[in-house]
Amino acid sequence: MQFPKFCGCDTCRGDVFVYTLNRLSPHYVSTREGEVITAINLDTDQEKAKLDVVLLEGFRKVAAAPRCGTKPVTL
Ligand SMILES: [Zn+2]
Repeated sequence: MQFPKFCGCDTCRGDVFVYTLNRLSPHYVSTREGEVITAINLDTDQEKAKLDVVLLEGFRKVAAAPRCGTKPVTL
């Protein structure tokens, strides 16, 4: 998933991962930060769709209030 305006630094990407982890089912929470995407079980289209939705929310939230100090953007 790519957003041209998203900061993309380690802090912001990490925040998106944490946001995503916190909102997925507990059995998804199994790995170190940064390995979320490969660790998540994407066996069904329903799970993939859910991940996309949560990721999108995470990107929007982090981009609107980046902790790294970059300019906030609306995705
Ligand atoms: Zn950033």
